[in-house]
Amino acid sequence: MKVDRRQFIKISAGAIGAAVAADIAGLGVDMSAAQEQAAKVPMKTGRQTPSLCPYCSVGCAQIVMTNDAGRIIDIQGNPDSPLSEGTLCPKGAATYQLVMNDLRWTKVKYRAPGSDHWEDRSLEWAMNRTAELVKQTRDAHFNEFQELPDGKGGMKKKRVMNTYAVASLGGATIDNEWNYAHQKLMHGLGIVYVENQARI
Ligand code: SF4
Repeated sequence: MKVDRRQFIKISAGAIGAAVAADIAGLGVDMSAAQEQAAKVPMKTGRQTPSLCPYCSVGCAQIVMTNDAGRIIDIQGNPDSPLSEGTLCPKGAATYQLVMNDLRWTKVKYRAPGSDHWEDRSLEWAMNRTAELVKQTRDAHFNEFQELPDGKGGMKKKRVMNTYAVASLGGATIDNEWNYAHQKLMHGLGIVYVENQARI
């Protein structure tokens, strides 16, 4: 029997649902009403664009469905992925709400030192302010030389050209190219504390 991707999703969902139902039934919980309701939820169809979940470094694959107007109508797990095989955790399964959400903040929120409230600022203002503070802090705490062990039990003044006053914490979804450019920028500024959210 030839199974297309859409049928595969339905079969997988049914198999997982049956397994979960069997487990929960063992606890004496009747899931029949929830299963009946879930069966009524129609699968949305549209143009399919492969993508990746933006939330964590596992990198589960997704399919983004768009309608004729290019508007996102659904985001599902991609069964073609050898990594995630069509599954998404609850967070990844809610990715649609990350994009299509009237309650989502779309402005930069800024709270000035000592202030008790947040102010809306433009992204351009936030980028400029960040660059200004990085430059200021880096210049004020830049080490051209440092006393370091000389390997013979003593200390020796060595040229280091670095700063320990600024750190960079990257996100798990930054790709290879961005990571490469980011490392170049950070090391060019002398910043040595460069870490990634996925490792902490
Ligand atoms: S679906 Fe969940 S586990 Fe997979 S990448 Fe997204 S957040 Fe991570």
